[in-house]
Amino acid sequence: MGALRKSQDALDDIVPYDPKYLPAKILLSANENPCSVPSVVEEEIIAGMKGFAFNRYPDPLANELRDLIAERENRALAARGSKFALTRDNVLVGNAGDELLFDFALAWGGPGRTLLNVVPTFSVYAANAELTGTRVVSLPRKADYSLDEQAILDRVSKGDIDQVVITSPNNPTGDVVSEDFMVRLLNATDALVMLDEAYVEFAEGSLVRLVEEHENLLVLRTFSKAFSCAGVRLGYILAQPSVITEFIKVRQPYSVDAVSQLIGRAVVRNSDAFTPGIEAIKAQRAVVIEELRSLSDIMDVYDSHANFVLVRMPDAGEVWQKLYERGILVRDFSRSRGLEGCLRLTIGTKEENQALLEALRDILAD
Ligand SMILES: *Cc1c(COP(=O)(O)O)cnc(C)c1O
Repeated sequence: MGALRKSQDALDDIVPYDPKYLPAKILLSANENPCSVPSVVEEEIIAGMKGFAFNRYPDPLANELRDLIAERENRALAARGSKFALTRDNVLVGNAGDELLFDFALAWGGPGRTLLNVVPTFSVYAANAELTGTRVVSLPRKADYSLDEQAILDRVSKGDIDQVVITSPNNPTGDVVSEDFMVRLLNATDALVMLDEAYVEFAEGSLVRLVEEHENLLVLRTFSKAFSCAGVRLGYILAQPSVITEFIKVRQPYSVDAVSQLIGRAVVRNSDAFTPGIEAIKAQRAVVIEELRSLSDIMDVYDSHANFVLVRMPDAGEVWQKLYERGILVRDFSRSRGLEGCLRLTIGTKEENQALLEALRDILAD
């Protein structure tokens, strides 16, 4: 025999997600934190691993971690003067943002349903829509990459949109959405709006308080960026219980393993220990942006509220290659639609950033 019936037709045109990860001395392509977890977190994890019950299935919903996440959010809300308080029923933990984005496509997408995607943005949203047979309506950002607010409001008012993603700060453009626009959008539609806050710790604050009055809002967070855990696979959503319940129906029951739950608890309990590292990245972001702007007038440098900076220049693909030859990996978007000529530079340690700036100075002077 040895014959194989072909896979479903929908897979014919699908190209697997490629993070374009290559070995390099200096990794500035994936928006990871340049440092691993603080030692207080590492010690708590190591202590928790001693005598660990690997033989037991994990708590399917990671309830202890849900409680800790809700408490941390409530402290942040109270510090802003908000009386809104979350409980575990407002939180769902997933196998990183990726799983929750897939659940979003399964629960609110599907055949006969429509996603409104604001491009350019994270490519995973459209890929998940394609996999689940969801129609995608792509609305372009303005020439400076800011949101075309009126176009989004006009489009949802047609009434055929089931789900919307707004990414703030947006990947790869680095801009943030205003609270005023989010409120107008949430009031203009009954579609489920995902506010992807994967990079919010590098920005000026979350809009999670809007969950209190808007059942159609879902906030996505990840442990992969500010919290140094890209290798662990942990993320969560914050929403009203009516939304969480639907996600629980489509998720894989044991997607968050017991070791990840333990690591997640150590991270959330000690989240203040990450603050100096996050502040250092924000300070370095200002240095990198300023130096990039003085480096060359052929380069456009976009403002950023995240841990990366988008730049646009002629021959970006060639510049990418020359950086790689010097051991520096950045993300090449030069052939991506709407991002022609663009590279995305993750903010690393001071030393890594200086190496990047020096290499760029050399390459652009050639
Ligand atoms: C990195 C990222 C995520 C989540 O990544 P995970 O590692 O799967 O948690 C979600 N949204 C955006 C925009 C991202 O850049």
